[in-house]
Amino acid sequence: MVTGISIMAKAQRKKNLKTDEYILKKSKRRCCLCFGLNCDSMRKRGQIAHLDRDPSNCRTDNLAFLCLDHHDEYDSGTSQSKSIQISEVKAYRDELYQYIKSGKLRDSEIHEKPEKINEYNKIFPYLRCLYNDIGLFVKQYYDSENSRNSEISKVLHERTKEFVPLLAKYELSLSKKLYAEITTFFDLLLDYKNRVEGAVSINRDEMVYKRWLAINTEFYEKSAPMLERLKTALQ
Ligand SMILES: [Zn+2]
Repeated sequence: MVTGISIMAKAQRKKNLKTDEYILKKSKRRCCLCFGLNCDSMRKRGQIAHLDRDPSNCRTDNLAFLCLDHHDEYDSGTSQSKSIQISEVKAYRDELYQYIKSGKLRDSEIHEKPEKINEYNKIFPYLRCLYNDIGLFVKQYYDSENSRNSEISKVLHERTKEFVPLLAKYELSLSKKLYAEITTFFDLLLDYKNRVEGAVSINRDEMVYKRWLAINTEFYEKSAPMLERLKTALQ
C-alpha cells in the first residue's frame, strides 16, 4: 500500500535530484572555493554542499558544488572568523557562475594548451587573484586577533613572489603604457595592504575603524576602473 507520506517523500526526492542536476550543470563541476581562493577553474570530483548545513534546505541559493577537500573543510568549519564563511562561498559561487556564463571557462585549459593562449592573459588572473587575496587578507586582518600568521597572508606573499618574475618575463613584449599600468596597479595593491596594516595595528576603536573604511573606499574607487582597463587590455 502506498501511503500519502511516501508519495510526498518520493516527490521530494525527485525534486531534489532535479535541483542537484541543475547545480551540477550550472557549476560545470567547478568548485567555487577552488575558483575563488586559488583561481583554479579545473573540473573537480566533488559534492553538492548545503551551505547552511541543513540537508533539508534544498533551495538553489543554499547549494554549491564543492570539491571533496573544500567540502570537508567547509563542513568542519565553526562560526569563528577564520573558517570559511557562508557569505564567502556564496560570493565565490556567484563569481564562478558569472565566469562560466561569460564563456571564459576555456581559461582553465591554460596549463594543458599553452600554445593557444595569448601570453598576456596569464598576467591578468594573477592581478585578479592578488586583488581578491588582499581583500580577504584585509578582512581577516581586521576580524581576527592573530591574523599576522594567517594562511592568506602566506598565500599573498607567495603570489606576489610568483607575480614579479612573471611580469619581468613579459616586460619586453608588453607595450610601455601597459607595463606602466600594471606596475602602478601592483603598487596600489601593496600600498593598500600596508596602509590597512598600519591603520589596524595600533588598536581597534571606532576612529581606527573609520580610518580603515576611508582607506577601503579610496582603494576601491581608484582600483576598480584600473582593474577593468587591465582586463580589457590583457585578455
Ligand atoms: Zn575546491
